[in-house]
Amino acid sequence: MTASEVRWKISRVLEAAQNHDLADAEAREHFIDSVLPFVLRGSCGGNTSCVQIDGSDEHILCDAGTGLRDFGNHLTKSGEGRSSTFHIFLSHLHWDHIQGFPFFSPAYVPGNRIYIYGCHPNMAEAFKRQQESPFFPVTLAELGASIQFISLSADKEYDISGFHIRIMEQDHPGKSYGYSFSRSGRKIVYSTDSEHQSNPEGSPFVDFFRDADLLIFDAQYSLAEAELIKRTWGHSSNIMGVELAVLAGARHLVLFHTEPNFDDQRLEDIREKTNAYRSIYAEERPLAISIAYDGLEIDLSRF
Ligand SMILES: [Zn+2]
Ligand SMILES: [Zn+2]
Repeated sequence: MTASEVRWKISRVLEAAQNHDLADAEAREHFIDSVLPFVLRGSCGGNTSCVQIDGSDEHILCDAGTGLRDFGNHLTKSGEGRSSTFHIFLSHLHWDHIQGFPFFSPAYVPGNRIYIYGCHPNMAEAFKRQQESPFFPVTLAELGASIQFISLSADKEYDISGFHIRIMEQDHPGKSYGYSFSRSGRKIVYSTDSEHQSNPEGSPFVDFFRDADLLIFDAQYSLAEAELIKRTWGHSSNIMGVELAVLAGARHLVLFHTEPNFDDQRLEDIREKTNAYRSIYAEERPLAISIAYDGLEIDLSRF
């Protein structure tokens, strides 16, 4: 967020605070949580793709974008991040999905084990190159943790760290891959950087997304942009997310990989419009909708 955006938010908050008695801390907390909209009390942030899936003794992550740095710093601060095992599943090797790795503090700690999975044959080469001179001062080989690259195949299924994992090839320049993680009757699908055909009926993704408790979905463009201007750019829209999520019976759609040029207000408008679009479907097909933001946590045990 820029300084002018912060200033705009402060001004709006002060305006909203008029006629509220905010003398004590409890009243202020209540005001923040119950009166202020997210666009004023928070921010979507600006990290690139990185999602943690909790529920295992080991650390499960999807992609190694700049969000990985925050995750590593969080572990280091809380005293975790040592003698740990990390499983990182890559959608693809575009820079916004791997550029957090050189800044991932647990990668510098001897005794940590990092397994990097993906379906692209040149994963190790991409990670090595982004840390070569003149791009970065520490090479991949100099990192303290043990780092291993493991090739996966989209036509196989895997059991890793307690999760059953399925993989789907996606339409994106150079290909990308979506992952479905199932455990204890819960299913999370991570599907980013994926373009979809304009008719969702009969899409193989309906089966891949089937009954997902959480569907993390590439919604970078509006439907009009995706269909008219940015076809073949390899991204999808909020509207296609709703269509596929409803057909698949998913319960919670998270609009992910949103356009980095959009500010918080524009993203909130998209969330509202997506909810309005969802409401054309009958209430017997409920679907929660969120916009991904840095630090968003979703507890699947609450369903
Ligand atoms: Zn990409
Ligand atoms: Zn991307």
